[in-house]
Amino acid sequence: MSLDPEDWSAVQVLGRRMVDDMIDYQRTVRERPAWRPMPADAKARLMESMPLQGAPLEDVYEAFLRDVATYPTGNIHPRFWGWVMGTGSVTGMLAEMLAAGMNAHVAGYDQSASVVERQVLDWLKESLGFPQTASGVLVSGGTAANLNGLLAARAAKAGWDIREEGLHAGPPLTVYGSSETHGWAAKACDTMGMGRKAFRKVPVDANFRIDLGACRAMMEADLAAGFRPIAIIGNAGTVNTAAIDDLHGVRALADAFDLWFHVDGAFGSLAAWSPSRDLVAGQELADSIAFDLHKWGYMPYEVGVALTRDGDAQLKAFGPVQGSAAYLKSSEKGISVQTTYFADRGLQLSRGFRALKVWFSMKEQGMTRLGEAIQANIDQAKYLGKLVEARPELELLAPVSLNAVCFRYRAAGLSPSALNDLNIEILAQLQVRGVAVPSQTILSDRFAIRVCITNHRSELTDFDALVDGVIAIGGELTTGAKAH
Ligand SMILES: *Cc1c(COP(=O)(O)O)cnc(C)c1O
Repeated sequence: MSLDPEDWSAVQVLGRRMVDDMIDYQRTVRERPAWRPMPADAKARLMESMPLQGAPLEDVYEAFLRDVATYPTGNIHPRFWGWVMGTGSVTGMLAEMLAAGMNAHVAGYDQSASVVERQVLDWLKESLGFPQTASGVLVSGGTAANLNGLLAARAAKAGWDIREEGLHAGPPLTVYGSSETHGWAAKACDTMGMGRKAFRKVPVDANFRIDLGACRAMMEADLAAGFRPIAIIGNAGTVNTAAIDDLHGVRALADAFDLWFHVDGAFGSLAAWSPSRDLVAGQELADSIAFDLHKWGYMPYEVGVALTRDGDAQLKAFGPVQGSAAYLKSSEKGISVQTTYFADRGLQLSRGFRALKVWFSMKEQGMTRLGEAIQANIDQAKYLGKLVEARPELELLAPVSLNAVCFRYRAAGLSPSALNDLNIEILAQLQVRGVAVPSQTILSDRFAIRVCITNHRSELTDFDALVDGVIAIGGELTTGAKAH
C-alpha cells in the first residue's frame, strides 16, 4: 500500500506554500518577540489522542502553523543569546529538505552522499589546520562528538584491549579537564562505565582557564594511588564564559604523561574560521577535536563533528573487533564496494545525510563570509562588554572572552542573595516580555545574566536594546521593592 499522495499536483502546490511560508518565517523573525510562553490551549490541542485515521495534509499543516510554528524556542531570533544555540539559515533549511527528499542512508556505500560527507570533512579539517589524514565523522552534536573523542582516547590509551576485555581487566581510568568543562565530560565518563568521578575537575585561574600545575599534581596523585590517567581535555570556549584554555600547555602536559589531548571546541573552535583565529591556536595539535556546526556554524540542528588526528583512531574505537558482521561486508563490486564505513567511526549505523546542509552552507556562503559572521559576533561581545562597563547600574562578572558576556544589574544596599534574586527576576522579565533571551550562570556565587552570541542576525543596536531593557526592568523592580 503506497503512502504517496493521490494527487501529486495538489501536494506540489501545498509544498510550495510551505517553502514560501518558512522563508517568510525567517525573513520576518525580527517582527516577533524573541520568545513567548506557549498558551495552555495550544498545548492542549497538541496533546490529542493517537490518530488512527489520517487527515488531509492541509489540515495538518494548519495545525502546524497555529500550534507549532508559533511557539519556538526563539533561537532563530536576532535577540536570542541564551545557552549556546545557533540560528541556522535559509540555505541550511532548504538543504535539509533536499536531504530528506533523497533520504540517503549514509552508513557508507558507493553513493554521492558518502563522497559529500568525506569532502566536507576534508574542508572542515583544513579550516581548523587539522591534517588531511585525520579521521572524521558527522554526528548529532557536541555531546556525541566529545564522547566519540573520549572513546577514541580510551581505546588508544587504556593500555589493554578494553573493547574486548572490558573495564575490569585493568586499573581505573581517569580523565582531566577544568572545572569549567561542560557537563558532557562527566556524562561521557558515566556512559563509558567509568563513573562520573573518573572525570577529574581541575581548578581554574582568574580567567576561568585550566590550572595546569594543579592538573599535573592531580595526575601524579592519581598515578600514585593506582589510577590510570588517559586523557586531558582542553576547552576552546567554555560554556560559561567562553574561556580558552592554554591549548599548547595542555598538549605539552599530555605529552609529558603520554596522554591523549582532546579539545572540546563545541562553538569556540570555529573562531578558526574568522580573523580572530589566533585565539584558538593550539587546537590543531589535539589528538581529537569535537565541535558543532549547529551553533557557531549557523547550520540547522543537528550536526556536530568528531575528528581524530590518527586516521585509524576512530576505526580502532568503533570498528569491527574481529571482522565485520557478515551483513556489513564490503564487496568487490556493487553498492558495498567502499571499505571504510562511517558506521565504523562512531556509534550510529543508520545515519542520515547531515553532510548536505554542511556542503550547501560552505559552498553558498563560503568560508570567508562565514568567518566574517563569526568575527561580527566576537566584535559584538566586545561592544556589549563596553556598554556594560560604561553603565554604573551594570557590572561585568567575567572578562569578555570570545563571544560571551556575563554581567548583572547592581543596586546599592542589597545583600548578595537579594542581588541574585533581583537578577533572576530581571532575566525572567527579559524573556517573558520578549525583549531578548540571554540565559544564566553562577560565577563565584553571583548570578550572572549570560549572553553567548552565535547569531548571524544580531546587530549592534540589539545589544543597546538589551542593556536598556536590563536597566529599565532593574529600575522598575528596585523602585517597586522600595515602595513596599
Ligand atoms: C553545547 C556544548 C556542548 C554540547 O554540545 P551539544 O551539541 O549541545 O550536544 C559541549 N561543550 C560545550 C562547550 C558546549 O557549548
